[in-house]
Amino acid sequence: MLLKYFTPALYLKSFEDLDLNWLISRKIRLLILDIDNTLAAHDEQTAGVQAQAFVQKLKDHGIQAVVMSNNNKDRVSLFASSLDVPYYYFSTKPLKRMYKKVLRDTGLQPEQCAVIGDQLLTDILGGNRMHFVTILTTPLVSRDITWTKLNRLAENQVYRCLEQAEILKRGEYDE
Ligand SMILES: [Mg+2]
Repeated sequence: MLLKYFTPALYLKSFEDLDLNWLISRKIRLLILDIDNTLAAHDEQTAGVQAQAFVQKLKDHGIQAVVMSNNNKDRVSLFASSLDVPYYYFSTKPLKRMYKKVLRDTGLQPEQCAVIGDQLLTDILGGNRMHFVTILTTPLVSRDITWTKLNRLAENQVYRCLEQAEILKRGEYDE
């Protein structure tokens, strides 16, 4: 069943709603963070206080954090520096290439990794293909760059399929 590749393990409104015990109970050692519309709007160059507090909380609990984005080096490196985390740009999510690099760089196994992101077709599909734990959030703002707008059209179809299969309903978040 193809829909399983688009099904997140957890569906939240925002990264701020993530209970770290949920990660810890699953023995997650690394959280791969999407940037645009997950941690920040695409026109916010650096992390806000909420994102900074969230990443600090991860680190305090012994969970590594990296940012991984399909966006360009300038965008991703500047944002990552505001969080003091490693970064991966031009990631070509949902392809496996950059996720594999993260595994090599950290020495972790796929089951020790989780991803959090706002897009079914990149973050969730990519994470599920790698057998990572996947966490879907709602886009922070509706402003999107042009490519992502196109992506959202296809994504809407997937949301419809997930709703029809009673897997996930937009806006009905997990606890
Ligand atoms: Mg995003």
